[in-house]
Amino acid sequence: MKISEIFKTKRVLSFEIFPPKPTSVVSTIYDTVDQLRELTPDFISVTYGAGGGKNNTETLEIASVVKNTYGIESVAHLPCINLSKTDVLEILDDCKKAGIENVLALRGDAGSATKNDFQHASDLVSFIKANGDFHIIGACYPEGHKECASVVEDIHNLKTKVDAGADQLITQLFFDNQYFYSFRERAVIAGINVPIEAGIMPVVNKKQIERMVTLCGVNLPKKFLSIMDRYENNPEAMRDKGITYAIDQIVDLIAQGVDGIHLYTMNNPYIAHRIYEAINTLLVA
Ligand code: FAD
Repeated sequence: MKISEIFKTKRVLSFEIFPPKPTSVVSTIYDTVDQLRELTPDFISVTYGAGGGKNNTETLEIASVVKNTYGIESVAHLPCINLSKTDVLEILDDCKKAGIENVLALRGDAGSATKNDFQHASDLVSFIKANGDFHIIGACYPEGHKECASVVEDIHNLKTKVDAGADQLITQLFFDNQYFYSFRERAVIAGINVPIEAGIMPVVNKKQIERMVTLCGVNLPKKFLSIMDRYENNPEAMRDKGITYAIDQIVDLIAQGVDGIHLYTMNNPYIAHRIYEAINTLLVA
């Protein structure tokens, strides 16, 4: 099923997982999916290794098992910066064969072997549109993408991506909901009227957040920083506070009519369970 059908009926709850590192046992990802299934997500998306070369087969394999064995709609992430048009056609063909109908079309971040077929995610979106019948999702950035000179320029570029055929957007993580609300207003003004899911990452240790801030360039509110300072040497308390912070964000987003919540699970079903228990009754539109 295309995810656009789900948005017509309810507020969406989705989870993101990533293929396990080569040193991990692949079956552990299915232990994770087993436990996530109990939370009846509307879909599970599977990331595609940063930089995205053609040899990354785990993404499609896991997305296929999620869809065909677990019966949960899946989304395959597809970063194009290191792919040729021929590579993308092959991947789309594999998606069709596996019954995967939903793709998150991304640019990715420049690795060493970039190819020149796609410059921006919007180029990939048009290409997918012309070569298949997929529900296409795009990434968006409440605080603006780190490379973009201004949030206004970024929203114009986002409009180009939606006009190219993106049916839905998922945001990068953010820790201050005001950024999301301002972004949503800019999107409306720019004429972007596809569903926007808020991407929420529960932060459960200080190293993780430091890495994310460097990688994504997001701001940390004072309240958040003081939680980290207070509990950084108490892992259990830090985890609980991180979960509570994420729940507070989600409760507020739902009250403000968000289209959906996309939880960056970090392959940790315990955290997803704790959050789900707190918010599931609120999800009913
Ligand atoms: P784009 O939409 O191309 O935007 C990138 C930059 O280019 C922005 O600054 C934008 O303003 C600018 N731009 C866009 N179009 C134009 C234009 N026409 N002219 C001038 N400037 C333009 N990465 C992975 O490698 N694998 C993953 O699985 C993955 N999953 C992700 C999931 C989500 C929900 C998000 C938010 C990000 C994910 N990423 C992933 C990271 C993503 O690849 C990076 O954030 C990357 O830097 C930008 O990707 P994009 O698709 O947003 O690019």
